[in-house]
Amino acid sequence: MEKKLTLPERVTICEVAPRDGFQSINEFIPTENKLEIIRKLAATGITSLEITSFVHPRAIPQLKDAEEVVRTVINELDGIDVRALVPNLRGAERAFGAGVRKLKTMLSATDSHSLSNANATVKDSQEKQAPIFEYVARENIEVMGSISVAFGCPFEGLVPVERLVEIVGRYDAADVREISLADTTGMAQPKQVFDTLEVLKTEFPHITYSMHFHNTRGMALANTLAALQQGVTLYDSSIAGLGGCPYAPGATGNVSTEDLAHMLAEMDIETGTDLEALIAAAKDVRDLLGVPGDSYMLKAGPSCRLHEEAPTGQKKVK
Ligand code: ZN
Repeated sequence: MEKKLTLPERVTICEVAPRDGFQSINEFIPTENKLEIIRKLAATGITSLEITSFVHPRAIPQLKDAEEVVRTVINELDGIDVRALVPNLRGAERAFGAGVRKLKTMLSATDSHSLSNANATVKDSQEKQAPIFEYVARENIEVMGSISVAFGCPFEGLVPVERLVEIVGRYDAADVREISLADTTGMAQPKQVFDTLEVLKTEFPHITYSMHFHNTRGMALANTLAALQQGVTLYDSSIAGLGGCPYAPGATGNVSTEDLAHMLAEMDIETGTDLEALIAAAKDVRDLLGVPGDSYMLKAGPSCRLHEEAPTGQKKVK
């Protein structure tokens, strides 16, 4: 019998640099530079964008201009599904007031990470989310839920899948039908991703899953392939691999958008993005922010430049 990878025809990439990436940079990025980067990203063909986080300005001063960023640019983002991260009801109201029509709520899979990140246990965080869900239901706002350290926690080690089943169940009970599984610390491996999705899809077949892989240990693309095998079609990534802490040696951000788009393009999976435009945007972002950037595309460039222009060689095998 012929064996083949099971791959979707189309994948949606959600660009998260303006949230996950920017918040990892300590020095304040002037609002006009944030806007310039968002406009560059919007011109690459991406169809989904996590534009900012409406956290308290004291918690993440980098994103204190969230309203201004959204209000200035939201009407230019035609055809792009824009969402913002909201930690509480106040954040949800600010985001909606600024013009965001899709909200992403968050909590951690473990109490230790939750206490260090949000100063509350998982259960307390779930209770704090209740007013957000009432608000979005009342205002008819699209909402998704995310789970940080879904695969591994720096304090509690590997996260048992039963914990995820419990958390997804709570989201489900609150009518949240899209869940982002975040490998915040880059501890996930492909078999774990595949097996976890198998369990979650069986328990909650009506939920749409999206994946948020950090590339801390170089496994983000392998994890993506495992999730593709499970039929997942929504993936977060960050231009130039922004995220983590660019000034801490060894710390790594999200998988880079250009590397993800490149792998998908090589496998003939449609993303709607223009790879050369993404690479150009990654270079611009690197220069504008003065960060090294972390992607294979910035180092080596896409392989199609070699196989499509090879004078005598074969083209890509379809
Ligand atoms: Zn992240």
